[in-house]
Amino acid sequence: MAAQLMPGFERRLRGEITGDVLFDRFNRGRYATDASHYQMMPIGVVIPRTLDEAQRAIALAREEGVSVLPRGAGTSQAGQTVNESLVIDCSKYLNRILEVDVSQARCTVEPGIVLDDLNRLLKPHGLWFPIDISTASRATIGGMAGNNSCGARSLRYGTMRDNVLSIDALLADGSRERFGPVRSDLSDLPDASMLRPLAQDLLRLAAREAEEINERFPRVQRRVGGYNLDALLPDRTSVNLAHILVGSEGTLAFSTGVELKLCPVLGKRAVGACHFGRFREAMDAAQHIVRLQPIAVELVDRTMIELARDIAMFRPTLERFVRGEPDAILLVEFGEADEAENRRRLDRLGELMGDLGFGWDRSGPHKGGVVEVLDPQLQTAITDLRTAGLNIMMSMKEAGKPVSFVEDCAVPLEHLADYTGRLTQIFDKYGTRGTWYAHASVGCLHVRPVLNLRLEKDVKAMRAIAEEAFALVRQYKGSHSGEHGDGLVRSEFHEAMFGAGLVRAFEDVKTRFDPAGLFNPGKIVGAAKFDDRRYFRYGPGYHGETLRTALDWSAYSGTGGGFQGAVEMCNNNGACRKSAGGVMCPSFRVTGDERDVTRGRANTLRLAVTGQLGPDALTSNEMMETLKLCVSCKACRRECPTGVDMARMKIEVLAARAREHGVCLHDRVIGWLPRYAATAARLAWLMNLRDRMPGAAPLSEWLLGLSARRRLPRWRRDVFDDSQTPAGPLAGRDVLLFADTFNRYFERENLEAACTVLVAAGYRVHMLRPTGGGSRPLCCGRTFLAVGAVEEARREAQRVIAAADPFREQRIPVIGLEPSCVMTFRDEIPAMVATEGAEDLAARAVTFEEFLAAEAREGRLVLPLGAVAKRALLHGHCHQKAFGVLGTVEAALNLVPDLVVETIESSCCGMAGAFGYRADTLQASLAMGELTLFPAVRQADAATLLVADGMSCRHQIYDQTGRPAVHVARVLAASVAAAKRMAERSAGGKPHNASGGTYRPAETIDQPVGSQAPRV
Ligand SMILES: Cc1cc2nc3c(=O)[nH]c(=O)nc-3n(C[C@H](O)[C@H](O)[C@H](O)COP(=O)(O)OP(=O)(O)OC[C@H]3O[C@@H](n4cnc5c(N)ncnc54)[C@H](O)[C@@H]3O)c2cc1C
Ligand code: SF4
Ligand code: SF4
Repeated sequence: MAAQLMPGFERRLRGEITGDVLFDRFNRGRYATDASHYQMMPIGVVIPRTLDEAQRAIALAREEGVSVLPRGAGTSQAGQTVNESLVIDCSKYLNRILEVDVSQARCTVEPGIVLDDLNRLLKPHGLWFPIDISTASRATIGGMAGNNSCGARSLRYGTMRDNVLSIDALLADGSRERFGPVRSDLSDLPDASMLRPLAQDLLRLAAREAEEINERFPRVQRRVGGYNLDALLPDRTSVNLAHILVGSEGTLAFSTGVELKLCPVLGKRAVGACHFGRFREAMDAAQHIVRLQPIAVELVDRTMIELARDIAMFRPTLERFVRGEPDAILLVEFGEADEAENRRRLDRLGELMGDLGFGWDRSGPHKGGVVEVLDPQLQTAITDLRTAGLNIMMSMKEAGKPVSFVEDCAVPLEHLADYTGRLTQIFDKYGTRGTWYAHASVGCLHVRPVLNLRLEKDVKAMRAIAEEAFALVRQYKGSHSGEHGDGLVRSEFHEAMFGAGLVRAFEDVKTRFDPAGLFNPGKIVGAAKFDDRRYFRYGPGYHGETLRTALDWSAYSGTGGGFQGAVEMCNNNGACRKSAGGVMCPSFRVTGDERDVTRGRANTLRLAVTGQLGPDALTSNEMMETLKLCVSCKACRRECPTGVDMARMKIEVLAARAREHGVCLHDRVIGWLPRYAATAARLAWLMNLRDRMPGAAPLSEWLLGLSARRRLPRWRRDVFDDSQTPAGPLAGRDVLLFADTFNRYFERENLEAACTVLVAAGYRVHMLRPTGGGSRPLCCGRTFLAVGAVEEARREAQRVIAAADPFREQRIPVIGLEPSCVMTFRDEIPAMVATEGAEDLAARAVTFEEFLAAEAREGRLVLPLGAVAKRALLHGHCHQKAFGVLGTVEAALNLVPDLVVETIESSCCGMAGAFGYRADTLQASLAMGELTLFPAVRQADAATLLVADGMSCRHQIYDQTGRPAVHVARVLAASVAAAKRMAERSAGGKPHNASGGTYRPAETIDQPVGSQAPRV
């Protein structure tokens, strides 16, 4: 099939498709990779709105002689989701449940529905689809069927093939057929059925090859290689024709509907974490453990434990279930309906480990035993850690990375110990190493040797390892393709594994379905050599362009001081495409576009910095569009398992753009706000005219791009005044309070409240002020960073560092109220200023709540507090979540007597600095808030206290729900005032004078909260 774009093809598509038609190089580049190490530039991309549109696009492709690549989330690891084809992306629109039959426990779905989304919708019915693959948060049912995916609990539930009841498919000739169960003699297929001739030929083919199939198909559950001809063998009364499509990797037909068998949701489970002193012993034990009939046995090895310990989000989980320094852990899960039975099996697991010779008191290989995990929350955390296995490995920052090609072999359990031992020897022989993890229950262990595929010698080593490893698998009568499919990486080896005869039979299947090679050619059959570097992501000639960078990227390799290596950290696994839980990635959650997800951005950057998108791509308008909806929430920094930090990368790109094109007027207004704020405050009446004078708001939209639909924060003359002497008792512990630009000029009450609280707790509060008597207040530089003005931000950073420096010796903490300012101290300032002072500031900077929570933890906090409300609903600022400090906000609020604190499961509020004010991002901003935040706020009763530490968050909440939210400092100050009133009452009405402060004390919460907080 010709891979050349025919003139007019794009135009024809645009004329007939209302969905998205993407033919520009940036968009094509974003679809050129899946989660393998391959890259093939597609001809174009269509995102159809309906199945009929998909059919139309395929028909046009056929007419134009262009091949078609169906695509879900693009998380495949074998290169089956890359091709020089027209990509049909099902994930954005083709994601509906078409039918659910609860009584029969089955449903029919469109191909683009994501597994987790499906299961969320099924849960109220007590059902789930149990193929629980690691990528459940983004993998689509169409892709799962395409790959014959298998989950951690395949021991109990089997693979996709065992759970797909029927598939509605669009065939290469344009016809649509339902593939489902039929009698083997096809007596139940009507004579006129268009499917009949195809079914007859397929059954004949299977009968012809029966002997070979019985002889050469590995007898392990995890065999997903080749076409499922074994499903059509003549030794049964009925066959399911859908099973030939399952695992066909988009090479035979385009699935338009998939009917699934559902199961009752699992009840309470019991998990035993079996510890082993040596890896081999764990492998050997697996065959005995499965006799206890667990639903899963999953491996985590020492390397993964060590790597996970370095990842903030996994460390606490490890601390709760890993005992000592095991070489390997098998996570054994029991999930019977009868909880007592789970308990019995867990006991038997303990006995079995004893029988096998393991004990906590032993040393060496037999040191071990079972750590029981019955807490469902911890079980979920462990599952999250296990399923992030690959990503944990990929978090290695060096140029060599774990490469997927032999990671998917499955061998009979009795050979597992020998197989893993011998494969490790092969790795040693080629000077590499691998980390083992995943499905010990079914003998399918993932292992990826570390190689640098930019180097010819490592590519050669890859071939040698593959050939030797697959020979080993053959010897143990295992399967070389046990989970992730064939794609480019394993199809070449079908002949060695199945024999030439069966490969011819696979080719016959393809020809019978798709003689012209319309669907995903070159996968499963007719594949290129797996080490053909023309199809590598890091192909011949791959190189980083010379790049000037403004921030420190030295933790990575490559050009731009390591910037190249940082963008290459994205391995395309797609975790950023999740639609619920955590924060990442808010822009994708509202648009569903590959352009607006961390992965799409990282890929675009990688292609740009390696010259694959043409000259000046990094600073181009297309790049600006790619980054436009990134709200710099930093969620990817924490939630992307390989730590892709797009917020920081965006600063770098904006800096490059500013260097090349200057800073536009809108960005000047936003970025330079700290510089003109004092003057603006003095002219508050004039500045506020924009929201009062008819026509001024539309004018500001036209001139500055600020949406006329938004009111801006209101300037005031009575700004925070920090010229006074320190507050609090002379003998109190010294603290520094940083008055950020926003609280200083717009919400001084928060700073005053913080002073009140700190003083009430006996601290001596000093304001962080510029050294050398400069009068311009300090600023963290955040607004400058937001517009790429890194040099200005650096200047601000240096001023703050200098101001904090005199207090370095005494280790006086620097307390801030605005989360993004404090996190700038910790994150960007050390990346901009390579001095000890910067590091020191980063180490001393804490949020108000972090400080209080730590003091309370240490037993040093003496803070009289009274009741203020019964319930508080908390929205965490993105940067509080990204830096894992939201817990301290909850802890600080929990200090208030009788207050029940509930945290909203929210992503970004959508305001994100200036993002929500811009006319061109307003819609996305509102949509982000509507995901979960606004509905939760609207449901809260009037007595509920709404709490949000970010000024933008407060404005967004007020603007869209009319409900004011307050900073935690205000809640605590009100609580201090309540305690004071109580103390005064019990002292017979005498005024209580404990503060000793010179700042205006914060008032009660019930009065100023509503009137003072957000004014937009
Ligand atoms: C970190 C990580 C962990 C993983 N863990 C597992 C695991 O535990 N178990 C497992 O089995 N896999 C796993 N995978 C592999 C992959 O996630 C799964 O195979 C997943 O099911 C692919 O879904 P997708 O939507 O991303 O499919 P895609 O990659 O988009 O597509 C997969 C194949 O299906 C075809 N296809 C897609 N839609 C259609 C359609 N409508 N009609 C016809 N063909 C179609 C495509 O052409 C392609 O060949 C993992 C991958 C990663 C990166
Ligand atoms: S950005 Fe991170 S989470 Fe997203 S695909 Fe890349 S590595 Fe995965
Ligand atoms: S910073 Fe936030 S919006 Fe930007 S890519 Fe990361 S998760 Fe997405």
